[in-house]
Amino acid sequence: MTDASDTTTIAAVFYDGTSNRKRSVTLRFADAMEIVEDGAVVATWPFADVRRADGRKALRLMCTSAPPLARLEIADADAAARVTVHFPQLDAGRAGAQTGRIVAWSLAAAVSIVFVTIFGIPLIADRLAPLVPYAVEKRIGEAVDRQARAVFGGQVCTRPDGKAAFDKMMSKLKDAGGFDAPLEAHVLSSSITNAYALPGGKVYLLDGLLQRAKSVDEVAGVMAHELGHAQNRDGLRKIIQTGGSSFLIGLLFGDVTGGSAMLFAARSIVDASYSREAETRADDFTIKAMRGLGRSPRPMGEFLVRVTGGGRIATVIDSHPLSADRLDRMKQDDRGVAGAPILTEQEWQALRAICSDVKKDPGKGGERFIDRK
Ligand SMILES: [Zn+2]
Repeated sequence: MTDASDTTTIAAVFYDGTSNRKRSVTLRFADAMEIVEDGAVVATWPFADVRRADGRKALRLMCTSAPPLARLEIADADAAARVTVHFPQLDAGRAGAQTGRIVAWSLAAAVSIVFVTIFGIPLIADRLAPLVPYAVEKRIGEAVDRQARAVFGGQVCTRPDGKAAFDKMMSKLKDAGGFDAPLEAHVLSSSITNAYALPGGKVYLLDGLLQRAKSVDEVAGVMAHELGHAQNRDGLRKIIQTGGSSFLIGLLFGDVTGGSAMLFAARSIVDASYSREAETRADDFTIKAMRGLGRSPRPMGEFLVRVTGGGRIATVIDSHPLSADRLDRMKQDDRGVAGAPILTEQEWQALRAICSDVKKDPGKGGERFIDRK
């Protein structure tokens, strides 16, 4: 059987459904569609079994008698139009598939509404957070990271002596506080006065905060507080809370990092503040770590008061409400200074200069600091 379309080669991309390999193939039309790679037929799809698959390419095909994930993509619109005439059942069953999807979504929505009704969102967050696998949390963190970096601007500072000092400080804080989760800590060149922790163990110190600190203990206290948030998975909890039922639906469908719900949740983690309980627990980590190092948590409290103008300005480190009782606690837990300095004077100066070889970036957050309380 020959016709005009057989004389022109139709190029396509083939995924065999068993590997991730993207294979360049040509198509031959005989009694069935033959998928040809390097002159050899690698698959044969009966015409009646070929169906249209969703996709952005001009034409994306699947086959009811091939592995379920096998796909054939034809990017050229003319070629696609010529090919489709061979497949009598191309759009069969599509209405049914659509209905199935709507039913699944409704079911997911119903399940999440039931959850919300029974437990309430904050409780769900507490119950769900420990169940979220670390790999998922890491993917969420990467999505939030992009959002946060867009808000704060700046790039990762890597001046070697400064980075060595920063790593030394973070490692002392981790050991003293008993931090036992994966961690990735960086200094960003943004001039915004802030520090923050993201899901998946990413912790950032912004140069703007570093430049306003008068001692290692002030910065160390803040970073220990961030380690506390990372250890307690507070970022993940907040994502679940703010993403609410959208997050649950996403989780059910295995798509937690795609879609507008994620963008919304990512944005809100940068904008909103943690609960008072989460702040207290993060402060617990500061107190434990600083005391373990024979240092006082008090400089951190005083630092926060200094950079926020005593709470008059809505500028608070990493969206943490600074209440008078937080500083009072730091003062109460001040046992004086018995341990060696966390960094030598030389290391402290190196840390302060870690971003000195990077062009200053004011960041898009500008004067709009991120706490509302
Ligand atoms: Zn905090």
